[in-house]
Amino acid sequence: MSATPYEALTPETVAARLGDIVAVSAHAGPSETWQVSEVGDGNLNLVFIVTGAAGQVIVKQALPYVRLVGESWPLPLKRAFFEYNALIRQAARAPGMVPEVYHYDDAQALVVMEFLTDHVILRQSLMQGIRHEGLGGLLGLFCARTLFRGSDLSMNTAERKRDLARFAENIELCDITENLVFSDPYFAAPMNRHTPALDPIVEMLRGDRDLKVAAQHLKAAFANNAETLLHGDLHTGSVMVCGDKARVIDPEFATYGPIGFDVGMLIANFLMAACAVPGHLADTAEQASYQDWILATATEVWDNFAQEFTHLWRNERKGILYQSTLFEDQNDVLGAEQARLDRLAAIWRDALGFCGVEMHRRILGLAHIAEYDQIADETLRARCEARGLMLGRALVIGRETIRTMTDVTDLARSIL
Ligand code: ADP
Ligand code: MG
Ligand code: MG
Ligand code: MG
Repeated sequence: MSATPYEALTPETVAARLGDIVAVSAHAGPSETWQVSEVGDGNLNLVFIVTGAAGQVIVKQALPYVRLVGESWPLPLKRAFFEYNALIRQAARAPGMVPEVYHYDDAQALVVMEFLTDHVILRQSLMQGIRHEGLGGLLGLFCARTLFRGSDLSMNTAERKRDLARFAENIELCDITENLVFSDPYFAAPMNRHTPALDPIVEMLRGDRDLKVAAQHLKAAFANNAETLLHGDLHTGSVMVCGDKARVIDPEFATYGPIGFDVGMLIANFLMAACAVPGHLADTAEQASYQDWILATATEVWDNFAQEFTHLWRNERKGILYQSTLFEDQNDVLGAEQARLDRLAAIWRDALGFCGVEMHRRILGLAHIAEYDQIADETLRARCEARGLMLGRALVIGRETIRTMTDVTDLARSIL
């Protein structure tokens, strides 16, 4: 680890500062050949692409503040530690689904990782009307494997409790989620913004007692139900795609929380992309057909999550919960199945709730999404956003009664 005090990198200093690290030059070649560009498009960090004679690597470095806002909002460098630790756990639990880590430097708050050649951010792809074969399946598998294998259903109890304590230190990023996702959308928080034409709906949502109570129940679940190690920021800007390949990046918000959180946030981002389609595709037939593909993909995310979760439940349940000594070993396979169905139903309810609040905060809060923001025609944008707000509300309020993804996509179609 570096003994030098933290200093933010610039494209000009990357070669001098990382050139001697063998783990980096092994992938990029000698530093004399490097060309460096800064490509960070996210809200928080510096991201450099290093291109050398032997190949390319990504260098991601945390800044001591929120990039989107500036130095007035300090944010601990330690988020690089959580990102690194989450990446190596995800690599072990869902092989092939995250970039390989080549090097981590704690003092410099930086991770050097595999450059995902030819991959683009899924959110961009969804604005262009591109279809990715099997995408929902891969993302469903990623969720099931990371969320099951990071939980008490699978992990050794000592290892899990130590890990829970380690990630409990990701305080500031959890705090961002707790405020920005679960509270700010429901009052006039200082950093909020929304398209002015939404004023009447915003007023209605902020006066909706059942919705606000539900959002706080969901916040309590996020803050208290440390079921598994979450990615914590699993939106379509944290997924990179290339044809039918997909990888998940950017887990700096990793924390122990409810299994439904990642799944719900991901599905929310597909539903919002579907709502925004009229802002990006001109042809109305193509709009409808692409919305169908997006909704089918969201359905695949849940279906494949549930299917793989079931497989892991039946084959890898080696943690402290629902032990086979109580069920299969007593020839009570049905008992294990009853418990599985109960747990899946609870995850589903949570996921619908998290899905709904995510849709609200991306339209009313600080961190918006490109699908909506890039619709220049404000009337059209407001119409697409209003659909997202109404769908989000229906999911939060209906989370106890909505049973299947078909119910969700029917609801979406009735609003789109
Ligand atoms: P932030 O935490 O600031 O959101 P991200 O990890 O999302 O940073 O990275 C910002 C951008 O950098 C991504 O949107 C993507 O375009 C690019 N990027 C990040 N990691 C990789 C990677 N491993 N391979 C290729 N591009 C990447
Ligand atoms: Mg990001
Ligand atoms: Mg980003
Ligand atoms: Mg990030």
